[in-house]
Amino acid sequence: MSKESKSIYNFDINLIHEYYSLIERQGPGSPEMTIRALSFIEGLSEYSKIADIGCGTGGQTMVLAKHIPGIVTGIDRSDRFIDLFNRNAGKANLQHRVKGIVGSMEDLPFQKEELDLIWSEGAIFCMGFERGLNEWYHFLKKGGFIAVTEATWFTEKRPAEIEDFWQAGYPEIDTIPNKLAQMQKAGYVPVAAFVLPENCWTEHFYAPQLAAQEEFLRTHAGNRMAEEYIAFERYEQALYVKYKAHYGYAFYIGKKI
Ligand code: SAH
Repeated sequence: MSKESKSIYNFDINLIHEYYSLIERQGPGSPEMTIRALSFIEGLSEYSKIADIGCGTGGQTMVLAKHIPGIVTGIDRSDRFIDLFNRNAGKANLQHRVKGIVGSMEDLPFQKEELDLIWSEGAIFCMGFERGLNEWYHFLKKGGFIAVTEATWFTEKRPAEIEDFWQAGYPEIDTIPNKLAQMQKAGYVPVAAFVLPENCWTEHFYAPQLAAQEEFLRTHAGNRMAEEYIAFERYEQALYVKYKAHYGYAFYIGKKI
């Protein structure tokens, strides 16, 4: 298989979870951008119910919970991530209102119109942006908010190498106007969209992975699958450096109407 046609889905999920357990966040983002996105959300109280879907080990959840009132439920399919999440909630002294549970974003354990806010950083792609917006809509109260980050093209035309990489991994990547149109169509009024700055990738996502890669390779010395997986991660990072003018992440914030 050529590198170009490889996607993360070719690798063992346990290896991926082990690797990402070594770092604080499992997707691009930063505390500053979580707080900026929060500035568009209104009407929360201590009775509000908030879900962080695809929460991982809770890097962004703890930032979120420190800046808003209400009960926060983190959901992730990885029990390994949820164990770390609940430990992190304890360390941050948030265990009384922040709880991680193992579950699927495709079958959420909430009632209809139960939630005041749905948060999801770097995770909605796992079921697809449009499908996620449509299905999660039912769990949100009228007037409730949704805030998600999503892979986004910044340019209309892209070099073939990066276009092929995303077509193999996540063909739903699209431009901001197209994503906003999908949000509107799903029943939300788009309240804001903004591009995540480069340091969300370099400083907060890729830099911490350097030491994690060394550690992971030491643990799995001689394991070809593990070596290939790290080579894939490094290739993805090199692509970002080369093509960051063409793509990145954006925050999309909508209000259910
Ligand atoms: N929000 C975190 C993690 C993003 S990585 C951060 O920004 O750091 C994407 C997360 O989605 C992973 O933790 C992965 O385990 C989770 N995930 C993938 N598919 C899922 C599914 N079907 N249901 C629930 N969680 C899922």
